[in-house]
Amino acid sequence: MVELKTDLSIDAMHAAGKVVGRTLAAVREAADVGVSLLELDEVARQVLGEAGAGSPFLGYRPAFAPTPFPAVICASVNDAIVHGIPGGYRLRDGDLLSVDCGAVLDGWVGDSAISFVVGKPRGQDLRLIETAERALAAGIRAAVVGNRIGDIAHAIGSVCRAAGYGIPDGFGGHGVGRRMHEDPSVPNEGRPGRGMRLRHGMALAIEPMLIGGGTDGFHTDRDGWTLRTDDGSRAAHTEHTVAITDEGPRILTARQEPGRLPAPGREHR
Ligand code: MG
Ligand code: MG
Repeated sequence: MVELKTDLSIDAMHAAGKVVGRTLAAVREAADVGVSLLELDEVARQVLGEAGAGSPFLGYRPAFAPTPFPAVICASVNDAIVHGIPGGYRLRDGDLLSVDCGAVLDGWVGDSAISFVVGKPRGQDLRLIETAERALAAGIRAAVVGNRIGDIAHAIGSVCRAAGYGIPDGFGGHGVGRRMHEDPSVPNEGRPGRGMRLRHGMALAIEPMLIGGGTDGFHTDRDGWTLRTDDGSRAAHTEHTVAITDEGPRILTARQEPGRLPAPGREHR
């Protein structure tokens, strides 16, 4: 069942989303060659704590997971697509890092992710990340009243496929609100005009995941959490929590001016 949020609830989600935006900005700032993923998790814990926010990630245990998630961020390096567990790994020059973070404030959840390169980037990684950002922007632009879930999925998938990238099936966006994962699910590929109609008050996490090698295969790591590309290529993951409103999509987890819609093809971190 899809829960429609009141305008006041969306404002409350925006407050949670701003904390997520601040946390991701701080993690990105701290991420450098030689820094460990655990240290980045510590940075995120500090920002969440200072904001009086909780973590919807810490202790989270979905049906597929063998253990409760032990951290407040997912840190996925290179061939890891999503759900990487922060550990002792120290970032190396040129690593592609995807960081996913959530916050709970006054009972409302924000959920957002970024990909970026640590140290000196490879051109192909920048292109992959830029495409993920464009796919996210396209998905957000399609998140308007009267459209359907399939329009968002189609917008995301078209950008990814046109650039020659793979898409892991079965993982993607979702409704978000008092819980991190609510109905409906928002796939990263689909047919336009299909699925649930979008209405004022829906809140969705939109989150393209791209496989750089162009194939779609992926598997779960031995840790039971991390999804990795089968072809060993690098992956990118970007995400915003977005409210569907009669005035247009409202980004609740922006890392620049809050609520601004990114211009097509431009960075919006
Ligand atoms: Mg997320
Ligand atoms: Mg999400």
